[in-house]
Amino acid sequence: MFCSCPNEEAAAPNVFVCPICMGHPGALPVPNEQAVRFTILFGLALGCHINSSTKFDRKHYFYPDLPKGYQISQFDVPIAEKGFLDIITPSSFREQARIGITRIHLEEDAAKSFHSETENKTYVDFNRGGTPLAEVVTEPDFRSAREAKVFLQEMRLIARTLGVSNADMEKGEMRCDVNVSLREVDKTGAVVGLLFHPKTEIKNVNSFKAVERVIEYEIQRQTKLWETNSPPATTTTRGWNDTKQVTEEQRDKEDSGDYRYFPEPDIPPLNLSSLVETIKTTLPELPAARRRRFVDEYFLNYEEAKQICEDIELADFAEQMFSELFAWLEALPDRENLDDEALEKENRRIVRLATGWLTSKLGGLMADKGLTIKTQKITQENFAEFITMVAKGRLSTNNGLSVLQKMLETGADPEHIIEEHSLNLISDEDELTSAVEKIIAANPAEAERYRTGEDKLIKFFLGQLMKETGGKADPTVASRLLKRLLEGTEGV
Ligand SMILES: [Zn+2]
Repeated sequence: MFCSCPNEEAAAPNVFVCPICMGHPGALPVPNEQAVRFTILFGLALGCHINSSTKFDRKHYFYPDLPKGYQISQFDVPIAEKGFLDIITPSSFREQARIGITRIHLEEDAAKSFHSETENKTYVDFNRGGTPLAEVVTEPDFRSAREAKVFLQEMRLIARTLGVSNADMEKGEMRCDVNVSLREVDKTGAVVGLLFHPKTEIKNVNSFKAVERVIEYEIQRQTKLWETNSPPATTTTRGWNDTKQVTEEQRDKEDSGDYRYFPEPDIPPLNLSSLVETIKTTLPELPAARRRRFVDEYFLNYEEAKQICEDIELADFAEQMFSELFAWLEALPDRENLDDEALEKENRRIVRLATGWLTSKLGGLMADKGLTIKTQKITQENFAEFITMVAKGRLSTNNGLSVLQKMLETGADPEHIIEEHSLNLISDEDELTSAVEKIIAANPAEAERYRTGEDKLIKFFLGQLMKETGGKADPTVASRLLKRLLEGTEGV
């Protein structure tokens, strides 16, 4: 944040260090401009007001992971404040919620300490020390563990969309301090007494799952305290013990007075006004808007849109593929007779078909081979052509799967693969007749039962025919032919 040490994974502890981040006397910190720009961008994405003038402050505390004895942070004038993020939580007790953003400030991360119980020693790795860290403080607007989790997932997606961070919680690129308190309500759900009671803070929770567990655990623990008439009287800090799946009491939280904040004398205030105007013009489409567009333009339901937009590369692929698909559809000859309503219905059917093939079938094949949408070989154009073939009945689901698998292996276009492996559906009645006659002759008892009214046996014959033709019989033509020949063989 204030020196030029690399911000990347290191091969060994304490290799990315310098006099500035180690806090040597006389070293002068210089703010990282990119980090300031990214924080402004993130603030704008969260609907925040960006302060035209901002400054850094020293936050004093003593801990081995902080060699200067203070952290350079922001106290009274953060870069961004007063924003919000809307989240959607279907089938939860609130369908949607607006979470207020109190502020976003920029600071340097502390180093990492490792406690060795066996050696009774603490080791410190300063590689992480000095990394730019944007801290987002929210209003007490969450009403469930689920809302907190969805909010964090949305924050991660926004960070990735903006390219400001990969926000991978497993790698510590995003961490969460969870604050929980209960509210007393009457039978109608209205709050009784104090709006907010003393809370519990659990610091540095580092996975979505843990955030959810921590909140659920704290709700249960505090509920018990309330039920025994001993609700939390003071704000406390607890730590999450992942092995035991419980929170445990830690030192009492210092309030901000203990930090003895004062302005960082080595860094002058920053004037952001012209920077903000430039950055505003670079704000890309945000995940919520993209999901809405996938619902409106591509007829997906919310869950499908969410699933695709969750992965930015997959969403980019889908979008390009849909536009190729519309081009293919427009070129089809049988569309001239359809009116607008019928056309939209047809488009809707095919786009949904494409979505299913993309997320479940291609998704499954990629997962088996350890591929991502970016590392696999199928182009958007070939995928769109493939979907057109499935939609028009040129490929059955089974044949479609083998074609898709070969597309994935070779990157070839579907037409090529169908020819090479003769996977076309047989929809010519003459070609199918001898196979149909053969299976009817081989199953006289079933044929007789069909003729005496057991209509559902048509499925049995269709199955036999598929076996006979290696799955290549066009199901529509085949059942028509089967019905005719079964009825026509009466008395044989
Ligand atoms: Zn450094």
